[in-house]
Amino acid sequence: MSNSIENISKVIGAKRIGTAQANIDWLLTDSRSLGFPEETLFFALKTKRNNGHKYIPDLYERGVRNFVVNDLPENIADYADVNFLQVKDSLKALQSLAADHRKQFRIPIVGVTGSNGKTVVKEWIYQLLSPDKIVTRSPRSYNSQIGVPLSVWLMNEHTQVGVFEAGISEMGEMESLREIIQPTIGVLTNIGGAHQENFFSMQDKCMEKLTLFKDCDVLIYDADNKLISSCVQKSLFTAREIAWSKIDNERPLFIESVEKGVESTTIKYRYLGIPARYTIPFIDDASIENSLHSLAVALYFMVSPTKIAERMATLEPVAMRLEVKDGKNGCVLINDSYNSDLASLDIALDFMQRRSADKSKKRMLILSDILESGQSNKLLYREVAQMVHNRGIDKIIGVGEDISAASNLFDEEKYFFQTTEELIDSNILQKLHDEVILIKGAREFHFEDISDRLELKVHETILEVNLNALIDNLNWYRNKLRPETKLVCMVKASAYGAGSYEVAKTLQDHRVDYLAVAVADEGSVLRKAGITASIMIMDPELTAFKTMFDYKLEPEVYSFQLLEALIKAAGKEGVTNFPIHIKINTGMNRLGFEPEEIPQLISRLKRQTAVIPRSVFSHLVGSDSAQFDSYTVRQIDIFKKASSELQAAFSHKILCHILNTAGIERFGGAQFDMARLGLGLYGVDPFTNKVLHNVSTLKSTILQIHNVKKEDTVGYSRKGCLERDSRIAAIPIGYADGLDRRLGNGRAYCLVNGQKAPYIGNICMDVAMIDVTDIDCVEGDRVEIFGDNLPVTVLSDILGTIPYEILTSVSDRVKRIYYQD
Ligand SMILES: *Cc1c(COP(=O)(O)O)cnc(C)c1O
Repeated sequence: MSNSIENISKVIGAKRIGTAQANIDWLLTDSRSLGFPEETLFFALKTKRNNGHKYIPDLYERGVRNFVVNDLPENIADYADVNFLQVKDSLKALQSLAADHRKQFRIPIVGVTGSNGKTVVKEWIYQLLSPDKIVTRSPRSYNSQIGVPLSVWLMNEHTQVGVFEAGISEMGEMESLREIIQPTIGVLTNIGGAHQENFFSMQDKCMEKLTLFKDCDVLIYDADNKLISSCVQKSLFTAREIAWSKIDNERPLFIESVEKGVESTTIKYRYLGIPARYTIPFIDDASIENSLHSLAVALYFMVSPTKIAERMATLEPVAMRLEVKDGKNGCVLINDSYNSDLASLDIALDFMQRRSADKSKKRMLILSDILESGQSNKLLYREVAQMVHNRGIDKIIGVGEDISAASNLFDEEKYFFQTTEELIDSNILQKLHDEVILIKGAREFHFEDISDRLELKVHETILEVNLNALIDNLNWYRNKLRPETKLVCMVKASAYGAGSYEVAKTLQDHRVDYLAVAVADEGSVLRKAGITASIMIMDPELTAFKTMFDYKLEPEVYSFQLLEALIKAAGKEGVTNFPIHIKINTGMNRLGFEPEEIPQLISRLKRQTAVIPRSVFSHLVGSDSAQFDSYTVRQIDIFKKASSELQAAFSHKILCHILNTAGIERFGGAQFDMARLGLGLYGVDPFTNKVLHNVSTLKSTILQIHNVKKEDTVGYSRKGCLERDSRIAAIPIGYADGLDRRLGNGRAYCLVNGQKAPYIGNICMDVAMIDVTDIDCVEGDRVEIFGDNLPVTVLSDILGTIPYEILTSVSDRVKRIYYQD
């Protein structure tokens, strides 16, 4: 299969500007998903709400060199070594490229369509077939005019079966999906009422869906559904049928009985006259129906009834995404701002209703306009109002023009706003108390601004983060590197305590090549907040692979055990070619493959397609200290040998990196392709322990001042004994906020109006007391714990630790405030 840019240009009939050689492995339409810039072809798509052309400069910066465009960029001379493939319609180009790709395969391809259940049926077919066959399937619910071509492109020389879902929202769309998928086996799940008004009738809609199956060898559907049966008759297909029925025992697949238990359902069936049975761990009707479709497909592939029964028993549910958090004033927040279609609204409302623990609380829904439903607003919001009513919602806040226009349809206590900003400005959010609040909005509405305000954050202690200083530090270290050396910025541990999102956003704006976090949750938080840069996970947990796949978070892999688990999980999720970063142990003796294990690692990597090495790296143990320089040099040598051995086994570029902050400063010769910047970014030079440009300042406020008599004591255990009449101020920061308890009893001080105020007595969990006898101050005055005027290294020196520990100890409940001029 030749994916040379030359060939692709021909297939899509493009006018090619540029002559650079390239071989394309990846098609990209969403710049956030970029993984392998060198081997990526980006399609700049114009949609109703967005224009992909605007991401071209950013992608170019990140290393992408191949673009399919409708319009050429104005400053085309600024782009070196690129190919622009100019076409009339980049979506059509994407589709015809995928259709051409499909033609190269003579293997069974399952096409799944219908109103509901497509994704679940596709996943379950996969779960039933994949132990025997290599199955390529649509990721998630990639079933649209864009998702289908991207899915089909994932087929490669290993694929033995393809399973793809197709969804449409308008008449005529199915034809283009048929050309791309060209299914040989068709599954029609069911026909429901969604997206109705664009179709003349249910029958037209059913006929439209059936066009997907025009050239199929076999067709699978519910024969008891009169509408579907009659449409299949009318379509005059010559395909063989595996129609299943619960009433007609002449049908090829006859369902004899369905027995629901407490947690599982047993289904008895006869296929071509032979009786068998299976049990699934679900009891709802939709799951039962979905299992019957999947059963028919498995039978067609001649999976034995025994194996089917084994695999059915362990079917896994297809997950949904809902977050529950504590809110202010006794509220509970259910956050689901991922999408806003009717089906997911219903699921979320259902979820909210089931939260039995919160029965005493009122139920509030904050809902944005529902976009691209395909229905007229009148019908749509009538349905929404009905759902809201049925699910026992007490109050609704609607945001958006459409939902506001339909406000009269809602019977509940109600408030409507045209925009999210109007809602925020209205002060209504501050008044909510003791409610369960479901926050559900399309991405465009940025409902995260609402949840931010409703989330519980106590305290008047804040960490101020100076983003300008961050950028200054970034540039200071960048100047020490060659211009082509890529940079990973470490934002693990909430960006060394500074708060990961804002820091990540700032770094992304300054075009760093990678962000690195410790665990998957840190990464998903960034993704949910809209960070699109490539993200590396340094300590991937075995339990979080799904999160990594969902959010395109690229794990570090340091052992065979981890690698095997990852490959297995990727297989289960239908993920292929997921980028990973190989860690080699060159002397830290913490985590990593031993250099001798490289041949075995190469052979394992070659025998699978789930993951693909994007980079290889190691970590220096003493780059900040001259006494370890010979050890450092040895580490670099070992790394050089091991990494080139790995690279030699693969044709694609694998990035090599070993330098951390001190390494950048002291071992510039070992830059390889990339460096990893951590502490330096946050202002601390690990070599000199000096602060470059201070980034984080931890501040608190004086809550109350007491006049305390000589020989009285302050705080627990009467530790703080006073030698004179004193003024003692209480500040709302304690060891639970990250103020180390060992700083108490006069060992350290903070600054009040620029003057040193020692800690008196034991530091408590949430409060500390300071001596302000000699300081002119009043309640409400600011206190600096560390930062611009009191370097963090003063505290780490007192405690005999390193600044990393102080910075990362500032707890989550301390609010972060960012500024930049
Ligand atoms: C944290 C970390 C770094 C950054 O180290 P600094 O000393 O803060 O620059 C680099 N590489 C790895 C693997 C890390 O875990």
